[in-house]
Amino acid sequence: MSGPLPGSRILTIIHFNDVYQLEDGGDAERFAYKVKTYANRMPLVLFSGDCFAPSLLSVTTKGKQMVEALNLLGVHCACVGNHDFDFGVQNLETLVKQCSFPWLLSNIFDKASGRPLGDVQTSHMLQWQGVTVGIIGLAELDWIATLAAVKPEEVDYRDFVAEGSRLAAELRAKGADLVIALTHSRRPNDIICARELTGVDIILGGHDHDHSLDAVQRADGRTVHVVKSGTDFRELSLITLQVPCQDLMQQAGVEGGGHGPPPLRVDVERVEVPRDGPADPGMQEIARRYGDIMGQKLQKVIGETATDLDGRFSTDLMAILPMLDATVVIRASGRDVVAALENGVSQYPKLEGRFLQVSGVKFRFDPSKPPGHRIDANDVWVTKEDECARIDLDAFYAVATKLYMTSGKDGFDCLQGREVIVDEEHGPTLPTIAVNVFSQLRTLNLMTSKEQKVRRAALKWQASLDKKSHANVLSDNVSYVSIKHPVQGNYVIAPKCDGRIICVQ
Ligand SMILES: [Zn+2]
Repeated sequence: MSGPLPGSRILTIIHFNDVYQLEDGGDAERFAYKVKTYANRMPLVLFSGDCFAPSLLSVTTKGKQMVEALNLLGVHCACVGNHDFDFGVQNLETLVKQCSFPWLLSNIFDKASGRPLGDVQTSHMLQWQGVTVGIIGLAELDWIATLAAVKPEEVDYRDFVAEGSRLAAELRAKGADLVIALTHSRRPNDIICARELTGVDIILGGHDHDHSLDAVQRADGRTVHVVKSGTDFRELSLITLQVPCQDLMQQAGVEGGGHGPPPLRVDVERVEVPRDGPADPGMQEIARRYGDIMGQKLQKVIGETATDLDGRFSTDLMAILPMLDATVVIRASGRDVVAALENGVSQYPKLEGRFLQVSGVKFRFDPSKPPGHRIDANDVWVTKEDECARIDLDAFYAVATKLYMTSGKDGFDCLQGREVIVDEEHGPTLPTIAVNVFSQLRTLNLMTSKEQKVRRAALKWQASLDKKSHANVLSDNVSYVSIKHPVQGNYVIAPKCDGRIICVQ
């Protein structure tokens, strides 16, 4: 953009959202460097939620490292994300107090205190580069059901359009030239915000991990932009606004000229943080210090995999399974299983956490059908003693899952109140199960290669594994875990990932 329009000032915003990993040598250091290269433009730095969890480091620190990281980045204001409640409301309250900037949540309140959940603010107003900026923080209803530490009946959720419009009007009345909504919602809800909120100029969203830009046309002829800025310190949005300012317009006599105020001009640039770029020493120091806290024990190689572990954002086991999820085994009917699978695909193509990772079952779903009717029970197959059979709705199955889901969270009501076969006291945590598979194979590899004494027992075990893998390949089954490495001859992890969930469209 060249010089500002008459009556307007230029304002630069750096926006980012959903950052989880802060490791030594990681992207956060290069992100911080990149942010500082824009210092001459005096950017307003805004964050749209999810940083205190989940990550392996957060299991130890309960998110404290991110307080230091966001303070160092010079964040001016942030809105709360669902994962920021992972270690409880109290923990979030403590972290928020340590931040050098305000946190917002405008439409979810604690019923008991009447305060915004996490004891944050509903709005914030500041002067920046001559512009009076009002900011609100909005969240969608859907994520309340996903909060592990908060009961839905304890909170008062208010519609984001009604509450957002009310606050925006309040900020305008106090003199805001620009009203920004920081949101932590899925993109379709942000688009509703852009279309229906009155008095909000731009929406900067989180919760989704993709970079996106939507220019939403409103009934009143205005265009409101929705910006999402990726994840994990890999990218940011550099936003340049020409903001019509009341004082300048009065001076220039723009108002009263019969044309109304000039429109807000918006320019959004997606900036990728180069992976080989320079690091910021301050962020490096934070990452190293917390890396030391974690110690050396996590560096050790626990096993080999023949297949890439499909973690979507990471192939590091501890980054895929950072939550110390309790596991349970319940007795569920075939009908319950189908209902659980239905819930898993009900939000598709939204990138919801409820989308299931399954083993021992394969199914087909049709996203063109309405949620709750996307799966035909004839298209659900389960593994029974190495055979794949169509699910029997009236039969009972042993289902291993997370305690979180059997308490009905993420909409899995169908798994609630079922007979428990293994309770959470006896079920290992999810990362432990994964680590155990690796150590079993390591033991097997050691036994078959070195110890003559146990060789016979090991060979027997080996033979059963060979048979299993082979049988599974033939019947196109879905649950085998390990294979013999074709060249090295040792046993490696090789889950069969493809073909478990088929989307027909
Ligand atoms: Zn989120």
